[in-house]
Amino acid sequence: METPMTEKAGASGLIFNEPLLWEKGKKGRRAMSVPAHDVGKAKLPEELLGEKIDFPDLSEVDVVRHYTRLSQWNFGVDSGMYPLGSCTMKYNPKINEKIAATPEIAAAHPMLDDILVQGTLKILYDLQNYLAAITGLPAVSLQPAAGAHGELTGMLIFAAYHRSRNSKRTKILIPDTAHGTNPASAALCGYKPVPIKSSVNGIIDPELVAEKMDDETAGIMITNPNTLGLFETNIREVAEIVHARGGLVYGDGANMNAVMGIIDAGKCGVDVMHLNLHKTFSTPHGGGGPGAGPVCVTEELAPFLPVPRVVADGEGYRLDFDAPESVGRVHAFHGNFGVLVKAWSYILSMGGRNLKKASQYAVLSAAYIKEQLRDTLTLAYDRSCMHECVFSDKSLQKYGVSTLDLAKRLIDYGYHPPTIYFPLVVAGAIMIEPTETECKEDIDQFIQAVKDIVKEAHENPDLLHNAPMVTKLKRLDETRAARRPCLRG
Ligand SMILES: *Cc1c(COP(=O)(O)O)cnc(C)c1O
Repeated sequence: METPMTEKAGASGLIFNEPLLWEKGKKGRRAMSVPAHDVGKAKLPEELLGEKIDFPDLSEVDVVRHYTRLSQWNFGVDSGMYPLGSCTMKYNPKINEKIAATPEIAAAHPMLDDILVQGTLKILYDLQNYLAAITGLPAVSLQPAAGAHGELTGMLIFAAYHRSRNSKRTKILIPDTAHGTNPASAALCGYKPVPIKSSVNGIIDPELVAEKMDDETAGIMITNPNTLGLFETNIREVAEIVHARGGLVYGDGANMNAVMGIIDAGKCGVDVMHLNLHKTFSTPHGGGGPGAGPVCVTEELAPFLPVPRVVADGEGYRLDFDAPESVGRVHAFHGNFGVLVKAWSYILSMGGRNLKKASQYAVLSAAYIKEQLRDTLTLAYDRSCMHECVFSDKSLQKYGVSTLDLAKRLIDYGYHPPTIYFPLVVAGAIMIEPTETECKEDIDQFIQAVKDIVKEAHENPDLLHNAPMVTKLKRLDETRAARRPCLRG
């Protein structure tokens, strides 16, 4: 029997137009009236600055409606499924926001003496330990503000390590399934990225690594699971090859949502790994921040971590600046403290066993979609996937429709499109990451939407070419949108 949940998610209804506040404002409108003042007139900012400031006059309801309407033009994990591969756009429980907003935590000044902020230091100390347990890498810096920032910090640590051994290394190996930020971070640090082609299975071929690894190569950057959603099963062998030539292994842990409590990166041979707290550990993201990309390292590399780190001794918690070999600071104060608190709260509210379960469900959801859509789209690699599955648009080409058309049409069905045309190793890639927070009914609805759209592709391809049709803005001219963005209303 069909349940109502298997009907189309779709999108219909009222979308308000909304002008700019300046167009909406009317001289003399105000949010509230206050009694006549009985003190001298203060100078207005414009008198102080000597120039006219153009603020619109608005009533309270003008402002509330303005921002409410703008928020309704938006799409987020709180409004619907957001299966954006490589991004882990999962639902973030509100309890973590509430904890991070607790005044005692949120208002603690970062310059207070250690003795006055023992509670906040304990949060940071415990979080360092939780992340160490999750990665299997014992020493942690919470400072980096994003995944790419963690990568840069990791590369600085690579450089500091090699410098400490008087070893001059100029190159770094990067598989073609790495995230684009990997070669960028290595290059920012002065290393020349050397690409490694993935094998026909979509994973690293240890023989190719052995061919390229030499005494001038600082190490390798491995994303595991990689950006095809595949587990790098040869990671230990690759790590041994790199270590044998004096190199280090960087683990890009942005995909940790697939493997929490399941793999131990340290035991896999990883020396440095960043985590994306804003992907895996409950900070909403997508708008550009704030995020956090803590870096976890082996005991051997601990002296190179950024300063300060939180340590505990008989007298309590304190910030430790005593690290002469440290790469220095990479962020003011403690990094993005609010994001760190959310991750701490998320880890505590889940507990170890449920973190593992979350990863298992994330993988199960992706595997289910992969199996349900294997005859509808073309699987890029027909093997077990982890938390995301990658298709290509090969089977759609005969209808004259592309990955972009499918993605645009999904918007009409009420979904944020998956990641498209990435990873680059798959032509016309469609990369779907459902995450553990979507229930089976919602995932079934999404699968049905993709099937319905593929049916439309051969019955009425124009529906796809012109999509989206029910949104406020219709199909954009992609080139003009990028080259000549219109930023007014
Ligand atoms: C998202 C992501 C990054 C970059 O993280 P940011 O926080 O966006 O800088 C790096 N690697 C992988 C695999 C990612 O998915």
